[in-house]
Amino acid sequence: RGSLIPRRGTVAGPQREQIAERVKVVVRVRPPRASETGGAIKVAPDHRGIVLNRESSTVPSSSFEFDKVLTESANQVDVYHAAVQPIVEDVLNGYNGTIMAYGQTGAGKTYTLSSRDPNAIGMMPRAAAAIFSAIEHDQSHSYTVMMSYIQLYMELLQDLIQPQNSDLQIRENENGVYVAGVSEREVSSMDDCLNLLHIGDRNRAVAFTALNAQSSRSHGIVMLTIVKRPSTTPKNRAVRQKVKVGRLFMVDLAGSERLKKSRSTGLRATEAVSINLSLTTLGMCINARADPNATHVPFRDSKLTRLLQESLGGNAKTSLVIAVANAVQHCEETLQSLQFGSRAMRVQTQAVVNECLDFKVLDAEMMAALDQKEDRSQL
Ligand code: ADP
Ligand code: MG
Repeated sequence: RGSLIPRRGTVAGPQREQIAERVKVVVRVRPPRASETGGAIKVAPDHRGIVLNRESSTVPSSSFEFDKVLTESANQVDVYHAAVQPIVEDVLNGYNGTIMAYGQTGAGKTYTLSSRDPNAIGMMPRAAAAIFSAIEHDQSHSYTVMMSYIQLYMELLQDLIQPQNSDLQIRENENGVYVAGVSEREVSSMDDCLNLLHIGDRNRAVAFTALNAQSSRSHGIVMLTIVKRPSTTPKNRAVRQKVKVGRLFMVDLAGSERLKKSRSTGLRATEAVSINLSLTTLGMCINARADPNATHVPFRDSKLTRLLQESLGGNAKTSLVIAVANAVQHCEETLQSLQFGSRAMRVQTQAVVNECLDFKVLDAEMMAALDQKEDRSQL
């Protein structure tokens, strides 16, 4: 398996194409439930403006502009086109991509990202399907796709494919951060991805039942790594060739609502802090990245922001989906989510192609060199 994945590494040089752009922010409004009162949100005809009518008539309504606002009648295909498609295309060409969903519990993050309902397949399996379809149609390259699924709860990173690995460490080398020892499973169809998602979700539920805790307080992270090699190279010949490595992060963030006092009964203050630490730090990093005068971005203060450091201003293309409910009852949380999205609109990233020399080829070269040396020493 090791030989399938090139060593982490990038080839620096002026020939590398760089894409500088803002984080793209898409708001998705979900319809009110029978128990909720709708009419809290108005979407402008251009699908960029959104107005939140506040519950109290003494507070003025608030309006915002985003890259796209999807009304409650939008479906999963609409979300895919707005937030995911452009990123998937670049990931196939060796760029890093991130799709993050933010919002209060019940606003539609998990439905949007990882619904397995055949009539409303979520973004993660949709992205996988698009990747495998592109791979099938590309005669001039061969690909390897690997999937990992982890969760972050109370600053502990747990492998959801091998849940006994419940305290994975984030490491860093010259090419950036990575999760040491995380399970990476080779996948070759959307169904493979749906299966791993299912296995991971089951392990997640077991972990939370054991902890007697709420899974809405954890972050779910799916990682797809796509290794792309030119298929023109003769199979058994060691030719120095470059491979491209694209990484797609899909992050289902913990519920953004504040921990209510009643909810956190029995919870020690230290627990409450560490439950919120990653999300709070994410907000601080976005504020700092959005502020041209900020000198320090506290990426290292939480595991989530360490892992997403590139996604928030480094080498990545990032889409943020803000999930909100069109319900009068949720106006305050919705306002907070829209404000968060609004600040994220000011964050810039610079994506570059990740290229490195093929591990397999380097190994073959090294073996050949050793053989030669041995041959000579036997003479
Ligand atoms: P979250 O992950 O943000 O806590 P969920 O994605 O679990 O929220 O959504 C909560 C409930 O609302 C689920 O039953 C889901 O099926 C439903 N839901 C969410 N978004 C939509 C939508 N756009 N249209 C219809 N139902 C939705
Ligand atoms: Mg959820």
